[in-house]
Amino acid sequence: MKTLKSEQIIIKGISGSPGICIGKAYIVDKEGVDLIKRYWITDAQVTKEIDRFKNAVAKAKSDHARIIDSLDEDLSENLNILETHMVLFKDKMLYGKTIDTISNEKINAEWALKKVSRKVKAMFKEIDDKYLQTRVNDIVQVSDKIMSYLVGAQDIKISDINKRVILVAHDLSPADASQIQLERIKGFVTDRGGKDSHTSIVAKSLKIPSVFGLGRATNVVKNDDILIVDGSSGTLIINPYENTLFEYEDRMTRFAEYMAGLERESHLPAVTKDGIPLNLMANIELVEEVVGAKDYGATDIGLFRTEFLYLDLKRFPTEDELLYKYKELIELMNPHSVTIRTLDINGDKVNPYLTTVEEANPALGLRAVRFCLENQDIFITQFKAIFRAAAFGNIKLLIPMISCVEEIIQVKQVMNKAVLELEDENKVFNKDIPLGAMIEVPSAVMIAEHLAEQVDFFSIGTNDLIQYSLAIDRGNRQVAHLYQALNPAVLKMIKMTYDAAKKKDIDLIMCGEMAGDPINIPVLVGMGLTNFSMNSASIPVVKRMIRNLDTTKAKNSLKKIMTLNSVQEILELILKEYKEILPFTETDENI
Ligand code: PEP
Ligand code: MG
Repeated sequence: MKTLKSEQIIIKGISGSPGICIGKAYIVDKEGVDLIKRYWITDAQVTKEIDRFKNAVAKAKSDHARIIDSLDEDLSENLNILETHMVLFKDKMLYGKTIDTISNEKINAEWALKKVSRKVKAMFKEIDDKYLQTRVNDIVQVSDKIMSYLVGAQDIKISDINKRVILVAHDLSPADASQIQLERIKGFVTDRGGKDSHTSIVAKSLKIPSVFGLGRATNVVKNDDILIVDGSSGTLIINPYENTLFEYEDRMTRFAEYMAGLERESHLPAVTKDGIPLNLMANIELVEEVVGAKDYGATDIGLFRTEFLYLDLKRFPTEDELLYKYKELIELMNPHSVTIRTLDINGDKVNPYLTTVEEANPALGLRAVRFCLENQDIFITQFKAIFRAAAFGNIKLLIPMISCVEEIIQVKQVMNKAVLELEDENKVFNKDIPLGAMIEVPSAVMIAEHLAEQVDFFSIGTNDLIQYSLAIDRGNRQVAHLYQALNPAVLKMIKMTYDAAKKKDIDLIMCGEMAGDPINIPVLVGMGLTNFSMNSASIPVVKRMIRNLDTTKAKNSLKKIMTLNSVQEILELILKEYKEILPFTETDENI
C-alpha cells in the first residue's frame, strides 16, 4: 500500500498496554526475514547478485566475529555455538549452494538463500541423530543473519537506540521488549502479537503504550513518520491530521490526569464497599520493578517470573547469581511475601542460547516445568538458590504449567535432590516454604482436587488458561478477538478451581492478567476470590473498582452470569449492573 506523507492512516490492532503517546517512528525492521519475495534476474545480473550475497555474508560474518571477541571467557558454551556459526557462514551446504542456485536458477539472492536453507533444514530433520537435528537451529540462525543483511534489515539493538522515538517492529520478543530504555522509547507497535502475550506484559510493566497485531505497520510506516499510539483502544494513527493531533494531545493529558488521580489513591486499602478486605499483589519480571509495585500499592509479590533473568544473561545463571537476585528481592519486600515461580521458558520465551529441537507447537511443547524436569541440573540450581534465599525472608514457591499429578510428584523429588545437595555442601537454607501449582492448563482444572492434595496453594494463570482452554495462541493476532476472559468456559474453569481449593482448604490466588481488568472484578469477587496478583500498573484501577464494589451484589450478579451462554451477554450484564462504578473500559472515548 502506497502512502502520501500528508495522508492520515488509521490501523486497528490489539491493545498491548494502555496509554497514549505521540512521536516519530523508528523502524526496527525484522520483517524482511519473513517476507522474502522471489524475482528473476538476467544473465548479466548474476555476478552482481552473487556479489551482493557474498557481501551480506561478509558483513554478517564480521558482525559475528565482533560478538565472539566481546564475549566473556567464562561463557565457553556460548563460544562453542558461536564458533560453529562462524564456520557455517562459509559452509558449502549453505554458502556454495546459494551461489549455485542464484546462477543456475537466475533468481534473487534472498530467494536462493531461503530455498537452500529450507532444503538444508529438511535434510537435517530426516537424520536420525538428536545432536545433528539440533544443528538445524544453527543453520536457521546463520541464514537469518545473512538474510537480514541481504534485505537491509540487520538487527537493530534496541538497547542502543538513543532517540525519543516510537518503535515499529514486525515482532518483538519479550526479551527484546525488556531491553527498552524508558527514557528513550515512548511506545511501540508491532505487526504481530496477540492479547496477553508476554511482550504485552513487559510493555505494561514498562508503562509505555503499545499496540500489537497491526499486520502491516512495518509496510506502511516510514522512519520519522509522526505516529499516535493509542494503547488503550489498540489504534495506530500514521501522519495524523492536525485536528487529530490536537484531539490526542488533549486525550493524552486527560489520561495522565486520570492515572495521577488513581495513583493518589494507591495507598488506600483494597476493601470492598461492604468491608471485605482483598489482597492485591504484583506480578513482576525484574527486581527493579519492586519500587514501582510498592508505589502502586501492591502488598506482596504474587508472581515473580524468573525467566527474564535467564533471557537477559543469555546463559544459565549460577546458583549464587540467582541467590543474589532472590535475596535482593525478598529483602526489599520483607516482611511481605514473594512468590517465586520456577523457570517458564520455551513457548514464546525461547532462550537464545538454548539449542533445542525446533518445535512445531512450542506452546504445547517442552515448556516450563516440562523443560525443567528434562533438564534437572538447571532445576536443581534454581531450587537451591530459592531455598537459600528463603533463609532471609518470606518466600513461596510456584510451579508453572502443571498438567498432571505425576509432574508435581516429580518436582518434589527434584526439590529433595536440591535439599540433599545443600546439606552436603553445608549451606544455610530453608526448605519449609509453601509450594504452589499454577492452574493454567485445562487438565489441571479437571484434577484440581487431586492436585490440591499435593500442594499448599493454587495460582490461577488465566493468560495461559484462556489460551489452552479456548485453543487460542496468545501471540497470534488472527485469533486475538476470540481470546476472551469472560468466556463461559473460562468462568466455569475458574469456578471449578475455586471450589476444589475451598473443599481441600488450600489458598487460591489469581495471577493472570484477567485480574488486572476492572471489568472482570465483579465476577471474580462474586465467585469468592480474594487474592489477586497483577501487573502492578493495573493495581490502582482495580483497587478503585474494589472499593466501590458490594460483594453481595457481586454474588447475585455471578448467579445470573453463570447461566448466560455468551461473552456478549455476560459483558452486557456487567456493563449494565456496574456502569456507575466501572472506572473505564479499554475503548473509553473519554480518555
Ligand atoms: C498466566 O499464564 O496467566 C501467567 C500468569 O503466567 P505467564 O503469563 O507468565 O505465562
Ligand atoms: Mg502462564
